[in-house]
Amino acid sequence: MPFTPSAYNTYDFANRRHIGPSPSEMAEMLKVVGVQTLDQLIDETVPAGIRQKDALSWAPLSEYRLLEKMREVAGKNRVMTSLIGQGYYGTVTPPAIQRNILENPAWYTAYTPYQPEIAQGRLEALLNYQTMVSDLTGLPVANASLLDEATAAAEAMAMAQRSAKSKAKAFFVDINCHPQTIAVIETRAQPLGIEILKGEPEELVADQVFGAIFQYPGTLGHVRDFTAQCEALHEAKAVAVVATDLLALCVLKEPGAMGADIAVGSAQRFGVPMGYGGPHAAFMSCRDAFKRSMPGRIVGVSIDANGNKAYRLALQTREQHIRREKATSNVCTAQALLAVMASFYAVFHGPMGLKTIAESVHYHAVRLRDALVAAGADVQPAAFFDTLTVRVGVGQQGIMAAARHRGLNLRKVGTDRVGISVDELTDEGVLTRLLDAFGITEPAPTEVERGFPEALVRESDYLTHPVFQMNRAESEMMRYMRRLSDRDLALDRAMIPLGSCTMKLNAAAEMMPITWPEFGSLHPFAPRNQAEGYHEAIADLTEKLCEITGYDAFSMQPNSGAQGEYAGLLTIAAYHKARGEEHRNICLIPVSAHGTNPASAQMAGMKVVVVKSAPNGDVDIEDFEAKALEAGANLAACMITYPSTHGVFEETVRTICEITHKHGGQVYLDGANMNAMVGLVKPGEVGSDVSHLNLHKTFAIPHGGGGPGMGPIGVKAHLAPYLPGHPEEGTDGTVSAAPYGSASILLISWAYCLMMGGEGLAQATRVAILNANYIASRLKGDYPILFMGNRGRVAHECILDTRGFAEVGVTVDDLAKRLVDNGFHAPTMSFPVAGTLMVEPTESETKAEIDRFITALLAIREEVRAVENGEISAEDSPLRHAPHTVEDLVAEWDRAYTREAGCFPPGSFREDKYWPPVGRVDNVHGDRNLICICPPPEAYAAE
Ligand SMILES: *Cc1c(COP(=O)(O)O)cnc(C)c1O
Repeated sequence: MPFTPSAYNTYDFANRRHIGPSPSEMAEMLKVVGVQTLDQLIDETVPAGIRQKDALSWAPLSEYRLLEKMREVAGKNRVMTSLIGQGYYGTVTPPAIQRNILENPAWYTAYTPYQPEIAQGRLEALLNYQTMVSDLTGLPVANASLLDEATAAAEAMAMAQRSAKSKAKAFFVDINCHPQTIAVIETRAQPLGIEILKGEPEELVADQVFGAIFQYPGTLGHVRDFTAQCEALHEAKAVAVVATDLLALCVLKEPGAMGADIAVGSAQRFGVPMGYGGPHAAFMSCRDAFKRSMPGRIVGVSIDANGNKAYRLALQTREQHIRREKATSNVCTAQALLAVMASFYAVFHGPMGLKTIAESVHYHAVRLRDALVAAGADVQPAAFFDTLTVRVGVGQQGIMAAARHRGLNLRKVGTDRVGISVDELTDEGVLTRLLDAFGITEPAPTEVERGFPEALVRESDYLTHPVFQMNRAESEMMRYMRRLSDRDLALDRAMIPLGSCTMKLNAAAEMMPITWPEFGSLHPFAPRNQAEGYHEAIADLTEKLCEITGYDAFSMQPNSGAQGEYAGLLTIAAYHKARGEEHRNICLIPVSAHGTNPASAQMAGMKVVVVKSAPNGDVDIEDFEAKALEAGANLAACMITYPSTHGVFEETVRTICEITHKHGGQVYLDGANMNAMVGLVKPGEVGSDVSHLNLHKTFAIPHGGGGPGMGPIGVKAHLAPYLPGHPEEGTDGTVSAAPYGSASILLISWAYCLMMGGEGLAQATRVAILNANYIASRLKGDYPILFMGNRGRVAHECILDTRGFAEVGVTVDDLAKRLVDNGFHAPTMSFPVAGTLMVEPTESETKAEIDRFITALLAIREEVRAVENGEISAEDSPLRHAPHTVEDLVAEWDRAYTREAGCFPPGSFREDKYWPPVGRVDNVHGDRNLICICPPPEAYAAE
């Protein structure tokens, strides 16, 4: 008998993993929506005039073949011992942290903790991070991470400008800062009209500046005390910023003790792999007086409805981008997951462990210095922690090559020195190889003296809080990590239907390669021929993203969506400038835009002009045209979101692009909603000039509880020459510390594209649209759908209008918290319209899970109806008492509804019931009594 295996549709087989509804479920859903086929729904949703002509070209790969390909590409990277330093260091990720945090979907699939009741675990971990940063830097307030050290330094400059009483217009930058830090500061300063004065710390003239940044250890190793500079700055009513290194601070006098106002740096070497540039958490801490102008998120302690301790994001309105064009920062997505890893590194090692690591690093550095000096070398600096430079004269290339021959990367410093940074991985073997490269065969001395003066020795305690003192048996650690993750509701438990955030599957196969050493252990400034695998991946991803978007070039540098906006607008500004039209500075932004849009425009030095919405939610074309005309020769750009933030494909998008171009402006299309477009519509063909893609939304990078993300920008050819550059490549316009941003997570998006294939991606888009329309169809009788296209369809998300409930006292907050009882994360609240819920199911959710969600929302509607009918008051209803905790269940029950109704509403599970660890969190209490670190030890009180 001849035998052939049964035929399956390759693309279907490859993509069942990612696409939730099965073919038969899809058929049922289409019926409910009222169409015959998926194509018919798409035709009714996406205007014909903007559809792309050709299908995306590449074939899908199975998981197995994908991982095989990833292995092959990984093999093209060469893992060497990188002693390059410059902000990136070898570190050991404790396996317990790698497995239980980095590789654990309970941590990496979580959303930003805006709903604190379902996020107590990650909020505690982030509070630990803040406590650690605060302790080590000696400053009382710290935030929950920033994007990287260089952007943190630029944020500190902006913060200094806002807070300083000095009216000076210049900012001083210590040339001992890392080159990429200086580059990013310069990029940021230019549109704000800030003059940058560079020099050695002793060249500071304090009354010329509103602030200054110094770095220790300096990029070439110098360890200095900046107390005198801080005093001089304070005398001149200017602000002192210090960039520093957390590991060094375990043995060195801390910035707070020098009088610094703000400290910044990277937490990378606390157990986070280098990853060819990231992602890593940057940190920022400050004096109490500065806390209200701090960018990013701050976790704080408050109480819940029962008066129990509960964490939540503090000073939420301080999240700068929410202030729109009045914002001084656009930070939204930051580096939560990496901050959590760094905090656990500190919990894992405790203060004694960290001190031991720091001392060991320093010991090896001193031994190296002494051995080199004994051999007659000129070694700098005199006072150092981990980094040295050696004068090698014309032998520079030779020494670098000799080191490489021994598996070591050194840093090229000028034309006649090499730099060496030792790290946690440096041992006797590394020292021996290193000395051998210099032709020294004597072993390094073991009896040495400290390499920095007594006055710089750290005197204060740190990490005295009990969490850093716990028993470090791995059982305890593992259980602590598990306990915290159990408190949270992430994608590994339930759908997270967050409009505009695209919380889709992050498939295991896509995640696996990022922890392979061939990808994790590469230094971002390692020679390019050691990173061929990365460059192959980045080139192929770029090609695919160009095909998907219709753009001609991409920059992978921006490491969040908002950074992409900023970079894209700077690209537009540079283009205008090159054409002698530097005066163009007006940016038109619809009132419905995401808050980061106006914040980014402001940072790029543009004047924001707000455009109205029409009653149907579209951009008001008449108003747009009038404002464009008024801006005239000063029109720089418009920023639009497509499909609109109202979840509709506007028919008029081409007209908006034409009007903008007619007046000489450029179109920035916010790509956060690409999940409604991939494979169907190319922004570059609709008339847009530049977009960022949120790879952490559309392209499967997990949200990590608030980061990491990647926001690469695509541009049409005429803008390509003005994309961000990097000092390592001899170019400028730098927006991130590393040339390819958080390069290692690009692999996730690449793997996603490869496994889906072009047709799979288009199918994902269609099903995302189907899922959203299915929800809209099922709910529209009970919740008005706020905006629809002219054929009654929504795109990949829909807005439930719940504003009418306010009449009987039921708020959108009540609905969101009640959904927790049903076992769901709330949809996006009050964006883009106050008092509404925006639901985005994504293609990854199955019909069963979507039905469970619909069941929950219909049951909640009945509870609202009971209030409307006067059967129960809003105050007494389960809506107001939500979410219900175990504490509520077992306490005396005097509610106007049953325990069953309160704790087990439709949609919730009985066996797998998710119990929020706290009841409704009191935000006002927390902001009135701001506590954003674990209670500080006595030693730091004297400031
Ligand atoms: C998410 C989002 C952004 C910002 O992206 P981040 O990565 O959080 O900085 C910008 N615009 C829209 C419409 C978004 O949904």
